[in-house]
Amino acid sequence: MKKLTPKAAYRKLASIYDRMVDQYSDAAEAIGMTCNGCHDNCCLSFFQHHTYVEWAYMWEGLNQLPAERLEEIREKARIYVESAQDSLNRGERPHLMCPLNIDEQQGICGLYNHRLMICRMHGVPNLLVKPNGQQVQFPGCYRCQELTDLYEADGRSAPVVNRTSLYKDLVMLEMQFVGKNLRQFPKVDHTIAEMIVLGPPRFR
Ligand code: SF4
Ligand code: SF4
Repeated sequence: MKKLTPKAAYRKLASIYDRMVDQYSDAAEAIGMTCNGCHDNCCLSFFQHHTYVEWAYMWEGLNQLPAERLEEIREKARIYVESAQDSLNRGERPHLMCPLNIDEQQGICGLYNHRLMICRMHGVPNLLVKPNGQQVQFPGCYRCQELTDLYEADGRSAPVVNRTSLYKDLVMLEMQFVGKNLRQFPKVDHTIAEMIVLGPPRFR
C-alpha cells in the first residue's frame, strides 16, 4: 500500500470528517436536535482517541495558532493530565473540560475544523459494525435520547448514523498515513490532553 504524504492524508481525513458532519446533521435535523443551551457539555467527557492520523491532524491545527494561545493550551493540557490521573487514582472517572474548549458555558471548540471523530459523533444515535461482525450501538447524548423518545412516541424510528464505512475509511487512511510499519508502533489510546502534552506523533 502506497504511503501518503501528510498533506494528502489530511485532505482525505477532512473529506471523511465532512461526510461525518453531513450524516450527523441529517440525523440531528430529523429529531430537531441542536446543542444550544445544553446544560451538559460533551467536552467534559473523558474519552480516548485511537489514530495517529487524527492526532497529527489535530497538531496541524494547533500549529496554526498564535504561539501564546498554543502555550495556554499546553498548560491547560498539562493540568488536565495531572487532574485526570488524580481522579483515576481515586477510582473516579475524570470530569474535566477539554483543554481545547474556549467557552465552558457554551461548549465552544477552539479547534473546530480539526476536532476528532469522536467529538463529531457524540450527540446522535450511531452504530458501528466491527470487522468480527459485532455491532456496537451508541444512543447519543442525554438530549438526543430525550428527543429520540419524543420522535418515536408516535411509532416513527429515529435515524441512526451507521458509521461503519467512515470507520473503515479511517482505518485505511491510518495505514496509508503511517505506512507498512504501523503495527510496530504503540497503539494510540490517548485523550486529547495527552496528545497535546506528548506533541505531534513521531514515527522514529
Ligand atoms: S476537541 Fe473540541 S469538540 Fe472535542 S472535546 Fe475538545 S473542545 Fe470539545
Ligand atoms: S452533543 Fe449533546 S451533550 Fe454534547 S453539547 Fe450537544 S446537546 Fe450537549
